[in-house]
Amino acid sequence: VNRIRVAVVTGGNRGIGLEVCKQLASKGVTVVLTARDEKRGAEAVKNLASQGLSNVLFHQLEVGDLSSAVRLADFIREQYGKLDILVNNAGIVGTTTEISDPESFKQELADMDGMEKLEWIRKHTTEPYDKAKECLITNYHGTKIVTEALLPLLQFSSHGRVVNVSSHFGLLRFFSGEELKKELNNIDSLSVQRLDELSEFFLKDFKNGQLEPHGWPTEGGYPAYKVSKALANAYSRIIANKHPELCVNCVHPGYVSTDINFHTGDLMVEEGARGALILAFIPKGGMTGAYLNCTEVASFV
Ligand code: NDP
Repeated sequence: VNRIRVAVVTGGNRGIGLEVCKQLASKGVTVVLTARDEKRGAEAVKNLASQGLSNVLFHQLEVGDLSSAVRLADFIREQYGKLDILVNNAGIVGTTTEISDPESFKQELADMDGMEKLEWIRKHTTEPYDKAKECLITNYHGTKIVTEALLPLLQFSSHGRVVNVSSHFGLLRFFSGEELKKELNNIDSLSVQRLDELSEFFLKDFKNGQLEPHGWPTEGGYPAYKVSKALANAYSRIIANKHPELCVNCVHPGYVSTDINFHTGDLMVEEGARGALILAFIPKGGMTGAYLNCTEVASFV
C-alpha cells in the first residue's frame, strides 16, 4: 500500500495556491505544485524548500490545455499510482486594467470596505470579449479538464478529495434570470454537456450585448468571472453526485490580499487558505457537493 499522501494544486506558484501548497506540505502531504510557467513554478518550489519544505515538487500545468493535464496525470500515475487531493485553484478575473502600481492608490482605498474597493477597481478595468473567453476557459473549462484528467487517479486513492476554489461571485443570486438560476441549481437534471453549452451561449450573448435580456449576471460587473465560477460550482456538484466515493466541494476563500485584487483584500493568504485546507482533509464519508463560505457551510444560491 502506498502510504504517501499526494496532492496536486493548480496555480500553485503564487497567492492562495502557493499558501495551500505550503500548508499541505507542512502537514506531511507530498505536494505537486503546478504552474503554467516553468520558471515561476520552479522558483516557488525553491522558495518553499528554503523554508524547510522538501516534500514539494513542480510539474507544469496550463489548466486550459488538455495535453498539459494529460502529461501531469501520466506523471502522477508513474510516480505515485494515485492522487489523494486535487485543489483546483488557478483562476483569473478576465479583465484588463489601467492599474499598474498598487501602492499608488492604497491611500485612496484606506477607508473603504471590501465591496467598495472592488467597485473602485472595477471603475479602472474593462472586460473585452477575449478576456471574458479566457476567463471561462481558465475558471470553468480548466477546472473540468484537470478534474477529468485526474479522476481515475483520485479513484485509486482510498479517499480522494477535490477542492474547488470558487468565489462568492459564483453564487446564483447574481443571475438576474430566474430560469437560468433554477437550471443551474437543479443538479440532478443538469449535465456537463449542458454546462458547456451554457458557456458557449454566455460568450455569444457577451459578444452580441445580450447579457442582460438573457438573464446573465450584469449588475456590479465581472459577468464572465461570475458565470465561470457558477459553472464551475455546478460542475463540482455534478461530479460529487456522480462519484459518491469522493469528497468534492467548493470554497470561497474570503476577500484575500493577492495579485488578483491588487492586494486590496482584507485577509492574509494564511487565512484565505483555511477553508481549502478543511476540505482537503475532510474525513472519508464526510461532506460532499457542498460550498464553504470561508470556513462555514453555505448555500450555492
Ligand atoms: P492570484 O492572481 O494571486 O493567483 C492566480 C494563480 O492562478 C496564479 O498562480 C496564476 O498563474 C494561476 N493561473 C491563472 N491562469 C492559469 C492557467 N490558465 N493555468 C494555470 N494556472 C493559471 O489569485 P488568488 O491567489 O487570489 O486566486 C486563487 C483563486 O482564488 C482563484 O480561483 C480566484 O478566483 C479565487 N478567489 C480569490 C479571491 C481573493 O480575494 N483573492 C476571492 C475569491 C476567489 P500565473 O502566475 O502564471 O499567472
